[in-house]
Amino acid sequence: MKKLKELYFLWGFLDINNTCHYQQTYFKQFEDQNCMENQEMISRFSLLLSFVSFYVTLFLTKNFPTSSKYIFHLMMMILLFIFLYVSKLMTFQYVPASVSHTMTILFISFLYIIVIANQLFSFELPSAMFYVLMSLVPIAFTLPPLVTLLINLFWAAIYAVIVHQQKPTLAFYEDVLALTIVLVISSMMGYFIGRTRAEQAFANERNNTLAKTLQQASITDQLTGLMNHRSFQSDYYELYDGCQQNKRHLGVIMLDIDKFKLFNDYYGHLEGDRCLSQIGHTIGSFTSQEISTYRFGGEEFVLLLRGTAASRTIAIAEKVRQKVYDLQITHEYSPAAPVVTVSIGVHVGFPPKHEKPMNFFDHADQAMYDSKHAGGNKVSVYKGAVLVEEKDEADSQESGA
Ligand code: GH3
Ligand code: MG
Ligand code: MG
Repeated sequence: MKKLKELYFLWGFLDINNTCHYQQTYFKQFEDQNCMENQEMISRFSLLLSFVSFYVTLFLTKNFPTSSKYIFHLMMMILLFIFLYVSKLMTFQYVPASVSHTMTILFISFLYIIVIANQLFSFELPSAMFYVLMSLVPIAFTLPPLVTLLINLFWAAIYAVIVHQQKPTLAFYEDVLALTIVLVISSMMGYFIGRTRAEQAFANERNNTLAKTLQQASITDQLTGLMNHRSFQSDYYELYDGCQQNKRHLGVIMLDIDKFKLFNDYYGHLEGDRCLSQIGHTIGSFTSQEISTYRFGGEEFVLLLRGTAASRTIAIAEKVRQKVYDLQITHEYSPAAPVVTVSIGVHVGFPPKHEKPMNFFDHADQAMYDSKHAGGNKVSVYKGAVLVEEKDEADSQESGA
């Protein structure tokens, strides 16, 4: 039993060192991520492995502890995890590398000296001391695995030589054999579990990135980089309700490119796409906390404004019209202008309570047709709009502050 305990010292360290190694190898990809979390997971796992191995060893060598000892082991294990947590914080956050490296080497050496002294002078180690010492093990995580391995091997060799000199009985070698089997099994277990977990974490990370990309793609219009019709649908109803509840202005600016079919016919679809992209990006430049921008579909765009005064909404619409005009995309067949222009409709006000939300939106659409009928390249405001300037000017100043 005593010999087993001694060997367990050595082997526990080898075990932890092995697990350390998996961590270093397989978690390289996660260096930029929260390293602390991985370290914590691995150190917990490593200790758990050591404990499992410990009991398996006792079982294999028919040295199973009595029930009172069991409870003691269990309590120590809980204590260990608490120690582990505290020492992890200390090791990784507050202690400089040079200090913790030196401490690790001294600590490992100290443990081995105790083990060897125990072998030479046959004094019984208090079990509690073993557990307390083990609780400092996380410090070993600060050393590179190869260095830890070399230190372990060095001390293990000295230990083996000393045991050999003492001409141990055959039973001792049987114990060593049992321990070796357990060590190999637990190391392999550690290797596979460590690797599987790392791969799982890696796959999860990849899935999350993919899900985020897909989620982003599902609400974005590829050609213009604006939000698509789907996002418009959900945002509009939400904004409508929000503005209604908070008694704020909702502004809708609807745009349609003038004679875009002709543009496509004369310059080709590809050139048409390029034009849409340019206009889309121009509209996108208006995006802010206050303004959301969408490609409504085809060559139609929408800007939704929250809490913006009517005069400011109209000014913004005029600015958009001017900016598109300033792009100076030649369109010699347009009756509106020799360049690509847009017709804009504006509706701004408090969303009425007992109406369908899309009615409010349709007013902007109607106003847009007014601009079309007036020859295009124009901003029109819905006639029935009730412009409550005073209250909302204050609103927009508030939101600007
Ligand atoms: P109006 O001034 O009355 O708006 O005339 P219009 O020609 O712009 O209107 P109409 O709705 O008849 O035509 C819209 C055109 O927009 C038809 C279609 O070819 C073009 N279009 C819609 N989506 C795309 C697109 O993704 N790429 C290209 N290149 N053209 C598109
Ligand atoms: Mg159209
Ligand atoms: Mg059009």
